[in-house]
Amino acid sequence: MGSVYYFAHDQRQHIDSVGPFLRQSIAIGSFMLGKYMHEEDAKTCRWVGFGITKGITSPARDTTVLGVPALLQGGMHGDMIAGMPAVDPNPLCYEPAHVLGFADFVRWVYFANPANDTGMLGVDFSIAERATAGVATTMLRLARVASTCMLHGMPGNCELALLNPRMIEPDYFFNYRQTAGLLTVADWSAKGEAMFGEDSQHCPRCGNTSLQPGDVYCSSCGCQMQLVRNSKI
Ligand SMILES: [Zn+2]
Repeated sequence: MGSVYYFAHDQRQHIDSVGPFLRQSIAIGSFMLGKYMHEEDAKTCRWVGFGITKGITSPARDTTVLGVPALLQGGMHGDMIAGMPAVDPNPLCYEPAHVLGFADFVRWVYFANPANDTGMLGVDFSIAERATAGVATTMLRLARVASTCMLHGMPGNCELALLNPRMIEPDYFFNYRQTAGLLTVADWSAKGEAMFGEDSQHCPRCGNTSLQPGDVYCSSCGCQMQLVRNSKI
């Protein structure tokens, strides 16, 4: 069993599972509000009006912290891991010129549907960021985050979306997940490590599916694939 924490009033408190805390946002009144979004995003986003819980997970440390923002504010993810070993303090962790940054932690948001008991796990994703920027920088990392979140109580049937900085999932990532059969947290956990692992046609960083046997570099994103597979985070 890893370390799972609930964060409130600047304190981390040990909990057994994230499960019982995922819908607290609705009672507290912390929602994804269209008025704070780009107009076009607000029209098309599937989780407008959903409750928002913020979380952060490190597969390497087997650690997750989650909490409910009382207001839509920046910086809460940085506060959640403040004081943990080898991470930068808030706000340095968010700076492009950070030193340790978020280290091996990846930020996520759980969107709770007020209309039923389902939700959506949105994980910050960008292959363009530094590895320590607090976002999943490779597809393989996403798979590891999904596995760790499930161990910490995230429902496997919850859909996993790849979020951009505006907290929406670009269509091409949604379409990619459909094509690859990576819809839910359980899909990413069960299939992801193999799909982006050794001897796979899928690039472990960008997900490109047109790799040939023996390729060293991905023809799509240019990464050296073995380095990505060997990465500890
Ligand atoms: Zn690639």
